[in-house]
Amino acid sequence: MSELARTGVAYAEVNHGRWIARCPTPYCYNALQIAHGDAELCCRECWQVFPIEWPADPISITRLLAARPNPATRNWLPGETPVDLLNESVAHGIAPAEWQDITDRTLMLRIADELVVGGVAIDGAITAPVYRMLEGP
Ligand SMILES: [Zn+2]
Repeated sequence: MSELARTGVAYAEVNHGRWIARCPTPYCYNALQIAHGDAELCCRECWQVFPIEWPADPISITRLLAARPNPATRNWLPGETPVDLLNESVAHGIAPAEWQDITDRTLMLRIADELVVGGVAIDGAITAPVYRMLEGP
């Protein structure tokens, strides 16, 4: 995580291809599967409710991870960027072989306002607008 974690906030993350949030209550180690757009986590162990902090572009994260054939490798933590995921995939051979030679993979994703809006590494020309539509005003 690039910033300090805030107390009382459940951070969305991807674990084995599922979006989850861990309960932030001290000594409560519960984690629950969440869905895109869920605003709150209601812990079923300590019965407290917390706002969920989502990354700017969860749909692009989901799409980049979906390219990995083994669900156990589909993981993302707050602070990791789409380019970080792309670099990991290329390093593990989960990308076209010719991508190994590209040293600056930031050129493979077009990112605007923290949203992937296109690029050869994702068929995401409509990703950001679709996400904005899902988000609403
Ligand atoms: Zn809890």
